[in-house]
Amino acid sequence: MTKSYTEKTTDHSDSGHFSFSFYCDKCGKEWRSPNQDFTGMGSTAVENKEALRLLWAEEHRLAYEAANYEARGYFNGCPVCGKHVCDACFDIAEIEHGGVCKDCSNK
Ligand SMILES: [Zn+2]
Ligand SMILES: [Zn+2]
Repeated sequence: MTKSYTEKTTDHSDSGHFSFSFYCDKCGKEWRSPNQDFTGMGSTAVENKEALRLLWAEEHRLAYEAANYEARGYFNGCPVCGKHVCDACFDIAEIEHGGVCKDCSNK
């Protein structure tokens, strides 16, 4: 699996849905990805439990990758400390680095 975009994530996925939460590295504000249905790749008639499990694992991985990618739109990477923080924890006015997290701008 790709490293998660934020330090902390939660996997809410179950047998029928995929959803993941990502949390601001500074304040812990949550962004949860929209629920995505498990489709079984269209093969609803899959009888084989093992095949179904593998399909689920593959879709789970893809859903995670997509959510992890989408999370980039909700958090800002700090070029100084490398944290990924929500907009409220980001100081976009700090122009030297093009914006840094508020931990780094309050020095
Ligand atoms: Zn925050
Ligand atoms: Zn920082």
